[in-house]
Amino acid sequence: MARNKVGMVYLVGAGPGDPELMTIKSRRLLSEADVVLFDRLLDPKMLDGIRAVKIDVGKNAGRHKLTQDGINQLLIEKAETGAVVVRLKGGDPYLFGRGGEEALALQERGIPFEVVPGVTSSIAAPELAGIPVTHRGVASSVTIVTGHEEPGKEAPLDWNAIAALGGTLVVLMGVSRLEKNVASLIKAGKSRDTPAAMVEKGGWKDQRMISGTLENIASLAQEKKIESPAILVVGDVVRLAEKLGKKRIAILRPAAQQKEAAAEALQYGFSPVMAPAIALSEKPLPIDLAERLGKVECVAFTSANGVRMALSSSDVLNSLKEKKIVAIGPKTMQALKELGLEAEVPEEYSSAGLERLLKGKCNGILFLRSAQGSRFLSDGLKAAGIYVDDIALYETVPSGDSRLDELIEMAKSVDIFAFTSSSTARFLVQRAKTLGLEKELYQAFADGTVAAIGLPTAEELSRLGVRVDVMPEKFTFEAMLAALKEKTG
Ligand code: SAH
Repeated sequence: MARNKVGMVYLVGAGPGDPELMTIKSRRLLSEADVVLFDRLLDPKMLDGIRAVKIDVGKNAGRHKLTQDGINQLLIEKAETGAVVVRLKGGDPYLFGRGGEEALALQERGIPFEVVPGVTSSIAAPELAGIPVTHRGVASSVTIVTGHEEPGKEAPLDWNAIAALGGTLVVLMGVSRLEKNVASLIKAGKSRDTPAAMVEKGGWKDQRMISGTLENIASLAQEKKIESPAILVVGDVVRLAEKLGKKRIAILRPAAQQKEAAAEALQYGFSPVMAPAIALSEKPLPIDLAERLGKVECVAFTSANGVRMALSSSDVLNSLKEKKIVAIGPKTMQALKELGLEAEVPEEYSSAGLERLLKGKCNGILFLRSAQGSRFLSDGLKAAGIYVDDIALYETVPSGDSRLDELIEMAKSVDIFAFTSSSTARFLVQRAKTLGLEKELYQAFADGTVAAIGLPTAEELSRLGVRVDVMPEKFTFEAMLAALKEKTG
């Protein structure tokens, strides 16, 4: 039979939402395609740099853009122009994705097609929240069902049979009928105490999980406003998330310190969300610096950043070799050491600790520090009859970083806010106000855990009306992580 040029359709699974969880084959086909039909649920980054014509056929609960028939027709139409068409679908195409229907429609019309498996959210979303759907000695089977039955269209689920199964139950499309479905399970004899969890947007930047029991999961989901796409997981495997799930921690330090801080957070078993709240705006060193250094025998640094800024000049570095140098904490000391300078560190890594160390040791002190340095520190020393000079090396300013805006927009998905200075707290709240999301941010503070690295930060937080849950004994970022680990398990 002679036929017009016919293209090819690929029914491609895109995974649960994280572009990095797409298969290599899906990336290649996307780059080769002439036309891509995709759903609303996809991360737009998945289609970055792709030359194909992109058509959104997405549907969101209740608001269908195109009917399934419409999509089938469009696939056929595009293929019959000779185009290479990719039909990109969330998760795996053949699991509650209507991929089979599309395949049959193409086959009926004689259009060649290929199906390309994807990472299904039914397994990946629980997994990314710390729930293995099977686990030796806990669950040796998993049942995947749809929670959103279209009345009259499909054979109704036999909840009695499902409840009797044991193993893990995963319910997709489970948000709108959650209460009814859970009630059906309980009515069918499933214990009210069976562990249950909802995983929202698994693998997305703002993934959330709530867990409880069959009895309370529906009210919890309502309280926390869990929305589609989300998955219900029922069974004892849910408990494993207490150990395997990672708490999401917001890292608010300046951009240059994000990587190191994120690596430390990972070491402690947290999942870091990088969101610089502050930036350091360096100031030129004063021209009379040498003269001022000549007047003191002690020099004090209060941050590793200050050390790097002040000592970028070799003149300053050399003149410091004759001074007693004091550093506020181990990181600052380390930065000095890297430049060949020995420094003393107080027992308590704070302004108060520094003050105690300096008293009796020096008659004259020069601080090389931030413009927002603690007034309290200078005043205390002056009162003790010490000559104090102060040079502002940098100013702490709002970061203007888009990652901070993203964090604020998804604040409800953050478990821990780790504040490393009063300015991180101030500028985060300020930015949320500007974006009109202050209420949401405060709700996230209330629902989550708030940590302050030291007293001034904790005081600033209470001034802002934020409850502080954790403050480490030693005022370092690592000690804060350790204290958080202890508190949040
Ligand atoms: N074919 C898809 C499922 C399509 S049905 C797959 O294999 O994953 C759509 C349902 O999948 C949603 O209602 C939701 O229950 C679930 N889902 C899809 N992506 C999800 C995600 N990232 N996190 C949680 N649930 C998701």
